[in-house]
Amino acid sequence: LNSVYSALPVTVFERMSQLARECGAVNLGQGFPDDPGPEDVRRKAAEAVVSGSNQYPPMMGLPELRRAVAAHYGRWQGLELDPDAEVMVTSGATEAIACALFGLVEPGDEVVLLQPLYDAYLPLVCRAGAVPRFVSLAPPDWRIDEDALRAVVGPKTKAVLLNNPLNPSGAVYSREDLETVARAIQDSNALVIADEVWEHVVFDGRAHVSAMAVEGLADRTVKIGSAGKMFGMTGWKVGFLCARPDILKVLAKAHQFLTFTTPPNLQSAVAYGLGKERAWFEGMRAGLQAKRDRFAAGLARVGLAPLESAGTYFLNVDLSSIGVADDVAFCERLVREARVASIPVSAFYAENAVRTVARFCFAKDDATLDEAVARIAAFR
Ligand code: GLN
Repeated sequence: LNSVYSALPVTVFERMSQLARECGAVNLGQGFPDDPGPEDVRRKAAEAVVSGSNQYPPMMGLPELRRAVAAHYGRWQGLELDPDAEVMVTSGATEAIACALFGLVEPGDEVVLLQPLYDAYLPLVCRAGAVPRFVSLAPPDWRIDEDALRAVVGPKTKAVLLNNPLNPSGAVYSREDLETVARAIQDSNALVIADEVWEHVVFDGRAHVSAMAVEGLADRTVKIGSAGKMFGMTGWKVGFLCARPDILKVLAKAHQFLTFTTPPNLQSAVAYGLGKERAWFEGMRAGLQAKRDRFAAGLARVGLAPLESAGTYFLNVDLSSIGVADDVAFCERLVREARVASIPVSAFYAENAVRTVARFCFAKDDATLDEAVARIAAFR
């Protein structure tokens, strides 16, 4: 039973959620909202289950959803996507990432990963037979250094995997940041796999800039999105993958033998949801931003210094400000003794980990956030 997978631990999210249950902790570890999600979208799904088709939908996704994805990205990000040739529906963004890697990469190719990296990336890169090359980002601003990126991009680079907004740091990369990436890879054949699942979860009036909307990256980008994150229903696992027609054709070959399709009823509900008015998305952002601010103020009151969170469900705490140099030990104590679960950010590094940051999910009821703050106050 020796394989890439046999040696891996259970994911840090699953481990912390389990520990949270055992300890009776407030779970601010694994990132999911406690709100049930928009009722109209859920109703559409229920209606589609009862009166619609429950058989295999088309392999590339329901035409109505592919059209809705193209139209949504046109409205929000200025992209011009051909729904028939440039959009594919997947069973969540994780499947889309797997399609991109398995479809593009051959053993011995190199894939550049920016650390902190989402935990699914590295096992998929390794399973595809690629050699990972790392670029490390560091708090407080997690900026991408052009020279550091240039240093790992070469003739063997097949792709740079870019997560923007970045989980776990909450950093949001601007057009200028993305132009930095474009410059660093311009002399290579590298593609960009842009995991943009948090594109709608951005705060303080920011607008998400897709890698696909940046000169020099537009036609080398595989853009990945997620209905689960857009509508705060993380269990839905409906993702989208957008790419140039010739690239999409290849990635579709990977998709057809991974999951082949995605539940049709959820697809039609998502197609409806993507057409929601601008005000709904803005309201969702404002609601989450208020939670971020409430929780940040609470943490600051009990002496934990929050780092900036420009997007995602996550607020990070700088543990070095309280003399902590081991985030794993801190998060263990916090869940067992304070009964608040969080995630040590070192879990998102494959090497040279930053060990002084803990990640908290703030997409929770105000009462839950306040309870977490009160427990941390009692613990400290
Ligand atoms: N995306 C979630 C997070 O970052 C984790 C999902 C999972 O448990 N695999 O918390």
